[in-house]
Amino acid sequence: MPHELWQRLQTLVNAGKLPHALLLIGASNPANQALVQDFAEGLLCERAQAGRACTHCKSCHLLAAHTHPDYHRLSSTTKSVTIGIDAVRELVALCEQTPQCADKKIIIIFDAEHLNINASNALLKTLEEPAGNAYFILTTQTPAALPATVRSRCQALNFSNAMISAPLWQQEFYSDCDALFLHRADPLLLAKKWQTHSLLEVLEQLELYLSQKIEQDLQKNRFKSLDHVYHLRKIAMQHATVNPQLQLEALLIALYNDFS
Ligand SMILES: [Zn+2]
Repeated sequence: MPHELWQRLQTLVNAGKLPHALLLIGASNPANQALVQDFAEGLLCERAQAGRACTHCKSCHLLAAHTHPDYHRLSSTTKSVTIGIDAVRELVALCEQTPQCADKKIIIIFDAEHLNINASNALLKTLEEPAGNAYFILTTQTPAALPATVRSRCQALNFSNAMISAPLWQQEFYSDCDALFLHRADPLLLAKKWQTHSLLEVLEQLELYLSQKIEQDLQKNRFKSLDHVYHLRKIAMQHATVNPQLQLEALLIALYNDFS
């Protein structure tokens, strides 16, 4: 999977389509974090080859000394599991300056689900219109824990394991989803068909399906649908006694209507 992550990031760069706000889902493990870091260093390096930093130029020396003025990373620390507003305000102020050394700034936020709500809000405007040629790379294992307002401002790439090789039932599940959103399947019949899976399992698959679709077409309605899924997942995780079948029916009707 790290290889896939690297490939997809380089594809974006080579196509000149690196978005100013990128959300990497399922890329928070140490191997992938190291890769994201390598990627950022390659972007800042003056003589990068195939995306890899040269380790010799001025930029690479500054990065090695942790003093590169155009590179910033935030993550929760052992002292605090949340990323607070002060850290984000500092970041936003830095973003407003022009790059000092490279032609761009790279800001990495590992485990962005740890941004507290004030920190997320402080970040929104900058994510939407990054000044100073800033590129944000956010990673998360649990996109559901990020505010929809943050998610919707980022282009998402999904590296959750389930996406890599879908077993048959998943493939069928995804074609059922296609049918639902194209109004070729009845939401109530689908809810009945999916009864054999737990509600959380269905929600997880819907989330993967929608994230994948968002990556392909960035349709606004998909974010709305994704929010419906996240909402129900929150409820389902907090209250084990809810009637899962009724909940799923209501959700599928809502998703169906998102695309009416
Ligand atoms: Zn270099």
